[in-house]
Amino acid sequence: MVYAISFENYNKFLDSLIQKTDVFAPVKGKVSSFEKLKSAEEFNADVLTEYTAKNNFLKQGELILTHKEGEVVEPDLSKIKEKILLGLRMCDLASIKKHDIAMNNKYADPYYNERRKKVTLFGYHQKQCGDEYCFCQSVDLEVEYDLFFYKRADHYLVEVGSDKGKTIIKDNQDLFEESDYKMTKEDKEIDNQLKLDSHDIDDIYTNNRGWSALVKDCLACGQCNALCPTCFCFEFRDVPKQDGSVEKKRFLSECQLECFSRVAGDHIFRKAQIDRFKHRIYHQLQYFKDKFGKTLCTGCGRCIRHCPTKIDFVTKINEMKKEAKK
Ligand code: SF4
Ligand code: SF4
Repeated sequence: MVYAISFENYNKFLDSLIQKTDVFAPVKGKVSSFEKLKSAEEFNADVLTEYTAKNNFLKQGELILTHKEGEVVEPDLSKIKEKILLGLRMCDLASIKKHDIAMNNKYADPYYNERRKKVTLFGYHQKQCGDEYCFCQSVDLEVEYDLFFYKRADHYLVEVGSDKGKTIIKDNQDLFEESDYKMTKEDKEIDNQLKLDSHDIDDIYTNNRGWSALVKDCLACGQCNALCPTCFCFEFRDVPKQDGSVEKKRFLSECQLECFSRVAGDHIFRKAQIDRFKHRIYHQLQYFKDKFGKTLCTGCGRCIRHCPTKIDFVTKINEMKKEAKK
């Protein structure tokens, strides 16, 4: 079922949600990110945020447990608050789906799952998405959402994706109207300038000349990991407190940093940056796909757009693939 909501009612709808629950959405700033909205006016649908929404599920510094003199106390996850994420683009939604897979692989992650369960997802369609760095149409975009909004001249069309979404519409039925519009493939299209030739990159692993050319400008700064919506690797740190207790906390970590693969005895398994760079690209485009049938990468382009030296791995991979075919 498709619904329609006028712009005026949409603002009323958002303002009423903000009164009842925490709503996070893209807000323009020096560094754009998903911020807690104080009013509908603050929502900026036109920005593909630099920081992604992943911190709402994989919280930096998440408290895992506290231990003191042999006693272990786990945090009360039921205290995690419900929230709405608004303005999620297809690539943002797809990245959440990838985390759902990764965080429920061999063992279900209760911290992630509790946060995920309490988040309502509102998608937002942008046909002219982002800029010359987006390539989402070349990778696997599987999404789940509660409501999905499509902007029209004077209203939004709204698709319902879950029972939760249905209930939200029902609770606000004075603002939404039923529509007999049938969404088409064209309605869902996204224009990308950049295209990844193929995401099966097994055949170019040993192209040392190609990879060296790509990595020569890499500063090993880890910005690509930090801004990537799907990078989920993490580490635990024990934080001693003044009362003698120790808090075990989880932090996202970055495979582009040398310390990422350091183990006891100070062995570092990916000492050369080329190995770390290849690892990131192969995890995003190949290893996750080999394991779960879909790329980890959602083609959002953040790791190129915000790389200080603008390393465009997509174009280079296309070239290497072309070379391999000859
Ligand atoms: S952001 Fe760019 S320079 Fe920094 S580690 Fe990633 S690829 Fe290298
Ligand atoms: S690897 Fe780059 S393009 Fe792919 S999801 Fe991460 S930031 Fe986006």
